[in-house]
Amino acid sequence: MKRRPFIVALDGPSGAGKSTLARELSKRLGFLWVDTGAIYRCFGLAVWRAYGGGVGLLAQREGILSLLSALHMGFGEGGCRVFLNGEDVSEAIRKPEVSLLTSELSAWPEVRAALLGYQRTLALAASRGVILDGRDIGTVVFPDADLKFFITAVAEERARRRQRELAGQGIEKTVEEVFSEQGKRDRADSQRVFAPLRQAEGAHILDTSEQSLEQVIDGLEREVRRHWEKAQRDIRHFVE
Ligand code: C5P
Repeated sequence: MKRRPFIVALDGPSGAGKSTLARELSKRLGFLWVDTGAIYRCFGLAVWRAYGGGVGLLAQREGILSLLSALHMGFGEGGCRVFLNGEDVSEAIRKPEVSLLTSELSAWPEVRAALLGYQRTLALAASRGVILDGRDIGTVVFPDADLKFFITAVAEERARRRQRELAGQGIEKTVEEVFSEQGKRDRADSQRVFAPLRQAEGAHILDTSEQSLEQVIDGLEREVRRHWEKAQRDIRHFVE
């Protein structure tokens, strides 16, 4: 029987550094990285292209939900490239209008239910371990994860980081604009009824406001390795 991979959950608000941490950690540990935000964003992009954003989404509910079954996603370069129906959409899914629409749609219970199984299947296919980053990993997707972290940072610092990231993609926004959009997303993600963003029971809180992400990664790596090695020893002990 195949053993379940070691599961690390990274949850937290937008701009806290989850994706950067998950990407770097997965490289160092040889774990799979599942960027669950990218999964929700692919759906957001598909809806954006078919319907545009904004008003009238609820009136189009049935049509929008039917897009879920036509969503074929793929990941390359260790999770860094994202494909939707064969097209590389790694940059398109990060556009601010897609971010806001994704946040709205991800409050719909049908959307969450449809994408939940997909996230679990992807993660459980990992051979050694898997790092998932998102909003509800430790609470809903894998409440029994081996290790859970809640990554956060003060809102101003998160907005500054996100603004730099967008500038790197050629999207020019002021920190104030990013701050305001981020606030909308944070509110939508934390106040929704289904699977809202909150700290999972047993999660370690990591505030990254005062540290560079490089410093945080070193600490995280040590912590994950310690638990992972212990889990390996426990399994060996159990088998012997
Ligand atoms: O993490 P990222 O900012 O890429 O996520 C985009 C959006 O997808 C979030 O604002 C949130 O609404 C949604 N999301 C979610 N649950 C997850 C991951 C992302 O609702 N596990």
